[in-house]
Amino acid sequence: MLKINNLTKRFGGLAAVNNVSIEFEANKINAIIGPNGAGKSTFFNLVAGAMPPTEGTIEYQGMNITGMACDRIARLGIARTFQTTMLFEESTVLDNLIVGHRLRTQSRLWDVIINSRRLRDEEAKCRARAQEVLDFVGLSHIGHRITADISQEEKKRVAFALALATDPELVLLDEPAGGINPEETENLAGLIRKMVDHGVTVCLIEHKMDMIMSLADKIMVLDHGEKIAEGTPEEVRNNPVVIEAYLGS
Ligand code: ADP
Ligand code: MG
Repeated sequence: MLKINNLTKRFGGLAAVNNVSIEFEANKINAIIGPNGAGKSTFFNLVAGAMPPTEGTIEYQGMNITGMACDRIARLGIARTFQTTMLFEESTVLDNLIVGHRLRTQSRLWDVIINSRRLRDEEAKCRARAQEVLDFVGLSHIGHRITADISQEEKKRVAFALALATDPELVLLDEPAGGINPEETENLAGLIRKMVDHGVTVCLIEHKMDMIMSLADKIMVLDHGEKIAEGTPEEVRNNPVVIEAYLGS
């Protein structure tokens, strides 16, 4: 699904991601862990095309997507959520999803001018899809509510729904369980499993070790931009280098 070769991103003198190579398989939950500043979010930024790498290549489903623009990468089926959930707080949950979907499938201006019927069809499709993903994340009953009034966990679910709206094959989740309690975290983990059951491949950054260890098929450990370990939760947990650099600290 994803094959990363010698990926490096430098910001001035700092190598935020340093010569990382890794493969993530389809239909699995792949996790990335590591201390703050290890380069995890930068890694996602590179895969999603938010910024070009300094060196190295990114292959997605056998395609070289290195340096491609983020909207093109999104259309190829890679979606993401951000560490800080960004929603229109004053709008309803459903409107957040409709706007998000519209931004991602935006018609060209010419279509808007000459083909308003097609636009109306798209509008209806957006709305239907928004309702569908809201259903999938278990929030069909709160579509009409103002986003500012829903719980933190519900906002996380809305962010998942936003990512799923474009029907992606690979979803990058950046610390989805930040700021929610253990029970909510368990619920969210269930939703991540459900995504994989429906054929989505997940790549997950998370600090909550219990969640990672029970959820992940494969873990990559980053430290100071470098991959210091990869393997199953069992392998990573027992890796002395990891214990030294991360778990023990
Ligand atoms: P993590 O997500 O693992 O906490 P990040 O990928 O956010 O780490 O950051 C890795 C390092 O790269 C940090 O030292 C951070 O300050 C730096 N960094 C991240 N993004 C940028 C940027 N756009 N410009 C300059 N430095 C950055
Ligand atoms: Mg981060």
